[in-house]
Amino acid sequence: MVKDQKFYDILGVSPDATEAQLKSAYKKGALKHHPDKNAHNPEAAEKFKDLSHAYEVLSDPEKRQIYDQYGEEGLEQGGAGGGMAAEDLFAQFFGGGGGPFGGMFGGGMREQGPKKARTISHVHKVSLEDIYRGKVSKLALQKSVICPKCDGRGGKEGAVKKCAGCDGRGMKHMMRQMGPMIQRFQTVCPDCQGEGEIIRDRDRCKQCNGKKTIIERKVLHVHVDRGVKSGHRIEFRGEGDQLPGVEPGDVVFEIEQKPHPRFQRKDDDLFYHAEIDLLTALAGGKIHIEHLDERWLTVDIIPGECISPGEVKVIRGQGMPSYRHHDYGNLYIQFDVKFPEHLGGEDGAPMSEEQIKALESVLPPRIASSAPPPTDAMVEDFTLETVDAAREGGRARGMAGGEDDDDEMHPGAERVQCASQ
Ligand SMILES: [Zn+2]
Ligand SMILES: [Zn+2]
Repeated sequence: MVKDQKFYDILGVSPDATEAQLKSAYKKGALKHHPDKNAHNPEAAEKFKDLSHAYEVLSDPEKRQIYDQYGEEGLEQGGAGGGMAAEDLFAQFFGGGGGPFGGMFGGGMREQGPKKARTISHVHKVSLEDIYRGKVSKLALQKSVICPKCDGRGGKEGAVKKCAGCDGRGMKHMMRQMGPMIQRFQTVCPDCQGEGEIIRDRDRCKQCNGKKTIIERKVLHVHVDRGVKSGHRIEFRGEGDQLPGVEPGDVVFEIEQKPHPRFQRKDDDLFYHAEIDLLTALAGGKIHIEHLDERWLTVDIIPGECISPGEVKVIRGQGMPSYRHHDYGNLYIQFDVKFPEHLGGEDGAPMSEEQIKALESVLPPRIASSAPPPTDAMVEDFTLETVDAAREGGRARGMAGGEDDDDEMHPGAERVQCASQ
């Protein structure tokens, strides 16, 4: 007579079911309710978990005995570490290989299916020059590989024995009667130190010292394609760590573009700041831009083109190569026009009449704000002083279009903003 029949009911068998009957009931139920087959059915996922839990308990003769005698409470009392995840049990049950569904359910199996060694991830920093031209980086990594001398057994063939103390599990259950309760402990098996296997010292593999794997240096050729973007991932399936009994892990390189001293990149376009003098801005000249492939671009500024401060111009097709297309982005050039400190004579003397006439001959006429006021207006004369940073503090900065000048320049706007919040 069992205390609680719930786990048997979940599996749909009677409490006197044989191990084979339990196994076949679990297999049938787990295949039917596996989450890969029931993506939009949360009930199935719950059912799958329940099935796995029930089978995990009942398939273990020790646990089954406790369950039969004390029900679920007896198991929880033991605090035996929560049991294994449903997917792990499922994978173990159907073998670690390709999983029971193989390719049947598409990519889904990969994440949750057979056990796999961890993925080795590495951020690969690349210069903009290398992305412009494309390159192959040779990257070395340390990984564990199955020991070639013992083929991952850890010792001579036939010399590696399953630990009798824990039946190869590496963990051992201990039980202690505490009044009406059985307390259960799980500890690392003292016979095999948790390995689940026993190898006599003299049979131990000399190369891996019984660890089954050795560390190997491996060089991978990472193709940095022209125009590749930050965040792009290059995967090497199965090139990661090898461990006995699990699928080899992957290696993933994530491309990260290093900042560049001359260019900013946005998608396939490049942005460049060119400082030019006022004479070049007005009367023309050349600027020279060192590109990313050792070319220098000589750019003509046509006399009279009149580049204003902050103006942006474009050279089409001189941006980045676009990834896996055969065209290029654009090169945008923003001009900083460097005005002279002073024009005229030496020692701060004003411009001469001749100099002014020369300028007036080429520049457009003065605009309204510099035309004289009405004849009947009251007029006072002023000259301008140079702003003294120490005296003005932050007040004058606003004029230059700084970012934190709003409250100085437009106190009203500030208040409106606050009121509307
Ligand atoms: Zn070995
Ligand atoms: Zn053991």
